Amino acid sequence: MTRKILVSACLLGHKVRYDNGDVPCLDPRFLNWYEQGLLVSICPEVTGGLPTPRPDAQRQGDRVVTRAGTDVTEPFMKGANAALQIALEHNVALAILKQNSPSCGSLFIYDGTFTDTKVPGQGLTTELLRSNGIKVFGEDQLDEVEQELARMM
Ligand code: SF4
Repeated sequence: MTRKILVSACLLGHKVRYDNGDVPCLDPRFLNWYEQGLLVSICPEVTGGLPTPRPDAQRQGDRVVTRAGTDVTEPFMKGANAALQIALEHNVALAILKQNSPSCGSLFIYDGTFTDTKVPGQGLTTELLRSNGIKVFGEDQLDEVEQELARMM
């Protein structure tokens, strides 16, 4: 059986972002994997119980807080655990998650000051997946994804 790829739901055009928007990935390789039925998706924040729209949130160390200072670490962790369960159930080859998100970011995230400043880092879902041996890439790293898939086949 061909192994699946876990993806952020917003990359598939689901309107689940904090601002009620989506960020569809239109790269032909991503669309091709979708057409082949290889993608399984989740929005960790919505699955963790947060509404859409919802307040913007950023990581501050191991916590995630909104601009107003509300601690939303618990739903973020609940969503991260749900993403891990889906990844394990489908024995995914890897994950392609939305860059810069406090859940899904894999190279950069916002620095927790709400000043539009990005720093190297990863979201809570990415961190949990990686700590369980699952490779996570951003939608801006499909060259690396292709190489990884070719290496695994
Ligand atoms: S938590 Fe992930 S899947 Fe959900 S909107 Fe944010 S980046 Fe997209």
